[in-house]
Amino acid sequence: MKFLLVLIAFFSPLFLNAQGLDSLMLRKHMTYLASDELEGRGTGTLGEIRAANYIAAEMLSYGLKPAGDGHSFFQVFETKIAIESISHRLLGRNVIGFLDNGSPSTIVVGAHYDHLGKGFQGSSLSPNSQNMIHNGADDNASGTAGLLLLAKELASNHAKEQYNYLFIAFSGEELGLIGSKFYCEHPTIPLANTKAMINMDMIGRYRPEKGIIVSGYGTSPSWGELLPKATKSLNMKFTADSSGIGASDHTSFYLKEIPVLQFFTGTHSDYHKVSDNLAGINFPGEITVLRLIENVLLGLDQLPEAPQYTQAGNPHQASQNTSFKVTLGVMPDYSYSGKGLKIDAVTAQRPADKAGIVAGDVIVNLAGQDIGDIYDYMKVLGSHQKGDQVKAMILRNGKSSSVDITF
Ligand SMILES: [Zn+2]
Repeated sequence: MKFLLVLIAFFSPLFLNAQGLDSLMLRKHMTYLASDELEGRGTGTLGEIRAANYIAAEMLSYGLKPAGDGHSFFQVFETKIAIESISHRLLGRNVIGFLDNGSPSTIVVGAHYDHLGKGFQGSSLSPNSQNMIHNGADDNASGTAGLLLLAKELASNHAKEQYNYLFIAFSGEELGLIGSKFYCEHPTIPLANTKAMINMDMIGRYRPEKGIIVSGYGTSPSWGELLPKATKSLNMKFTADSSGIGASDHTSFYLKEIPVLQFFTGTHSDYHKVSDNLAGINFPGEITVLRLIENVLLGLDQLPEAPQYTQAGNPHQASQNTSFKVTLGVMPDYSYSGKGLKIDAVTAQRPADKAGIVAGDVIVNLAGQDIGDIYDYMKVLGSHQKGDQVKAMILRNGKSSSVDITF
């Protein structure tokens, strides 16, 4: 009996610690969130409301406190969208649950749960997409389910971390980060006490050979302390994009000068199409990604001080496997799924800018190497020195041309 008690005392924290990150539970959440029943979770639709109800019920069952409007889990916001060219006002809702550890400081963990609905709200890449359900399994039932698993894990680990955790499932993201912008203008926990924001957008298609893409790496020196160690312990590759500005809700927090990290398993040909379904999801892979995020959260908890905000520089200042002596000074468009590297933004007076490359251009060849995707691009960067002169082939409005680049 005594022996048994010792065993229980020894092992129970491990069991408790592991109970949240469960692959079966992940599948259950995603199967519902990405089901036709929810009709693609368009902002302001019945499907969005039913998804919100599901998320709130889960949060309640973990013992999270409602942290939306009044005493509810919901924070309602109004937005305007054009449907069939006519503008309408819609109400969307963020779902917010608070894990109160009695601390003055809070970390926000977020993921958007809205998607493209039935294709009337724009931004579908499928042909004839109107009245077709866009299930958005990877984008972003994956992040939403991840949010629930992490919430359950942190709520049940019987540890009192030095931070409180505010779990927010955002809506209106696909319409332009509307829900997260609204939250940052109407925070329910003061932003001054919000020390970091961790975001998950499209974490369902982990491929070990490609690793994980982490944006916001340059928004705090703490990320450089935590991420290389955390990825190494899980034997994961990672690509770091230093910028705090990107195509997801972490941007809204970065613009309020809060350190951010956004996790992403990479783009694919089903992005924003009706074919983004459960079939494409790597469930065990997502559990690995969630372990990584949990490691980062618990690592943050071990640091003696809250992460400092820093203004982030150019993308790709750091990577675990390649150290770059050169960059082009561009922000890649991670959502682009065609061949080549599409440029989202160009930093003034850096090599790409000086060569005449502009936002929207697609680099298809660099220094004689074909560029199929961002990884090819990074490989080429890794093999050059400052001062090297190379040619780049770019596509602009369907026309190709060659430019001279000096690194
Ligand atoms: Zn998304």
